[in-house]
Amino acid sequence: MIRILIAVVLLLSIPSTVVANPYAVPHPDSMTAECTRIGHKLGSVSRAECLAMEMHPSGGHSAAGQLILMREFPPVKGKTPRARVLLIGGTHGDEYAAVSVVFKWMGFLRRYHSGLFHWQVVPLLNPDGLLQRHSQRMNSHGVDLNRNMDTPDWESKSKHYWIKRTHRDPRRYPGESPASEPETQWLQDEIARFQPDVIVSVHAPYGLLDFDGPPKGPKHIGYLYAHALGTYPGSLGSYAGSYRHIPVITMELPYAGTMPTATQIHRIWIDLIHWIKRHIPKHETTQFRRKIEQQKLSEKPTT
Ligand SMILES: [Zn+2]
Repeated sequence: MIRILIAVVLLLSIPSTVVANPYAVPHPDSMTAECTRIGHKLGSVSRAECLAMEMHPSGGHSAAGQLILMREFPPVKGKTPRARVLLIGGTHGDEYAAVSVVFKWMGFLRRYHSGLFHWQVVPLLNPDGLLQRHSQRMNSHGVDLNRNMDTPDWESKSKHYWIKRTHRDPRRYPGESPASEPETQWLQDEIARFQPDVIVSVHAPYGLLDFDGPPKGPKHIGYLYAHALGTYPGSLGSYAGSYRHIPVITMELPYAGTMPTATQIHRIWIDLIHWIKRHIPKHETTQFRRKIEQQKLSEKPTT
């Protein structure tokens, strides 16, 4: 009886925050554990499918300590890739289809990678947002990762925009400072390291295509048609497209919780490959970047 009483007292003495922490991660450094959580969460990606992708830890972690997983499809022997492509899903944790579709494309690459491009694939940039009981757009600090990138206008515009335009919408909170979040820092480092010629970022549910940076964007990819959303301070399109002149294709699938059909997923993929092959890195991109570099050099004061 005394033992039972002690056990009850001990149980009651556990701080409720520990019990209620929705971000409790049992094995933060285990890829298998993360694939298990992904398999439980996504109706369209099983644990086995996740494991079969043979992803590896990218070195990056989420705010709650979960792994940011990635898979590289490197150059093939004897073939120079035409471009380096960074493909990202799951920036927003409640856009399930955006994560699942990237898994499906990763599956295509596993089967058919020809060396045409050099790929880095990150299907889930925001594991904290997705892998919890009630998935959410933001990371575990409550920050919208697509408003937290270190853009030159972040300090002057981000908070102001959040307060005036979104009326302090918690789903669009840009964070306390630019790149305050480990996921954002990792992504910025990865862009600097990998030097992608184009970035493809998958979201939902607006059912459209957005484009930032040179050259001119595609009119449509599969059933997604171009419709400029505008640029937001701290967004990836702004950070990479507008300021670093790396083309960013933002795909907005039409539904966050419903997958496109297999045919639609395939069609988008084929169109994407064709567009990148035709335009990236094309003369205008390279010339544009060269022009910008020259401008920067000529603007530098001589000492
Ligand atoms: Zn999104």
